Amino acid sequence: MLSFQEKLENYAELAVRVGSNLQKDQYLFVDVTVENVELARLIAKKGYEAGAKRVFIQYEDDVVTRLHYDHAPLDEFNHFPIWQAAEKEWLADHGAAFIKIKSSSPDLLKGVDAEKVANFQKVAGQGLSKYRQASMSNKVSWTVMAAPSEDWAAMMFATLEKDQQIPVLWEAIFKATRADLENPVQAWKEHDATLSAKVKQLNDLNFLKLHYTAPGTDLTIELPQNHLWNGGGSKNTSGFDFMANIPTEEVFTAPFKDGVDGYVSSTKPLSYGGNIIEQIKLTFEKGRITKVEAAEGETVLKNLVETDEGSHFLGEVALVPHKSPISDSGLLYYNTLFDENASNHLAIGNAYAFCVKDGTTMSQEELATIGLNRSMTHVDFMIGSGEMNIDGIAQDGSITPVFRNGNWAF
Ligand code: ZN
Ligand code: ZN
Repeated sequence: MLSFQEKLENYAELAVRVGSNLQKDQYLFVDVTVENVELARLIAKKGYEAGAKRVFIQYEDDVVTRLHYDHAPLDEFNHFPIWQAAEKEWLADHGAAFIKIKSSSPDLLKGVDAEKVANFQKVAGQGLSKYRQASMSNKVSWTVMAAPSEDWAAMMFATLEKDQQIPVLWEAIFKATRADLENPVQAWKEHDATLSAKVKQLNDLNFLKLHYTAPGTDLTIELPQNHLWNGGGSKNTSGFDFMANIPTEEVFTAPFKDGVDGYVSSTKPLSYGGNIIEQIKLTFEKGRITKVEAAEGETVLKNLVETDEGSHFLGEVALVPHKSPISDSGLLYYNTLFDENASNHLAIGNAYAFCVKDGTTMSQEELATIGLNRSMTHVDFMIGSGEMNIDGIAQDGSITPVFRNGNWAF
């Protein structure tokens, strides 16, 4: 068994070699919280060992973020600092790779003026839109991972002693990301091959529609012509592999923007904008969300749907079997990076350009014309359970079972 230090080194290695797959003479930008300085330094070390030209570390601090939301005037949430956007655009233009380590408390902004949260989400989406376009069309290599924070660990493991919460969360993260294995880079190669095989099956089937049924869900999603399923590793436009999420268990594509009808209910809480949203129910007509309901956080959810025109539509359809490593752990992470990889999910907002053939070479207008939703936002929410069935409807109308009782039917 590996020691904690060995697993942490593995984790940093995964961030650099598998996640961002940093190449010699690249810049590396790392976004991390002050609670994870040790990990940040290890990533920097691995980055330089991999030949980084320079590693930039940006430290976030939950405590300061909360102070800002509590005390700064409302007007301050109506603009995004242009120099922060310029920094990311410059790095993207100069071929940098990006690593984001998520640690924030899932309900960091609970009780904060909802207008501040909504306004800032909106202006951040606008401010970072150029950078987001670069990442969502794979012009840059990027990866999202996670590391514990005190509040997040406390939320997940409330019944444990305080000093046990962070170590237990670390172990769960190491296991979910295969960092606890002797050779995690090799393990990710094998995992990637398994996901690729599923992607190929789905691409060959080339469904016209998917029909979801479960308690609280009866939803039909049309898929665009020439849609492509994706899963595991991505390739950037310079031809280098990277892994956008660690962990990842999903295969996904884009819906046809105007082709979603029916209703869908969430099966896990969603942490969005520092708030927890529970028991979401969305109703769709011709792709558009016509009714928004939630047992908790309904205002935050409604504000999300009102972000822009595109946030009234879906941008991602993702399949994850109920029987999968993160789901089997039985843990609720309150962190989408993990919870989405334990459950079928959908995303409100922007679709990935690479989910359709030749999409990464198309303009935003061309993508919109072929039915790929455009939006400043992209927020996944979880809908899977052991009670979910999904049928694939072929171009000729014939039906193929895709999921039965939450798991792959083929
Ligand atoms: Zn997803
Ligand atoms: Zn997503």
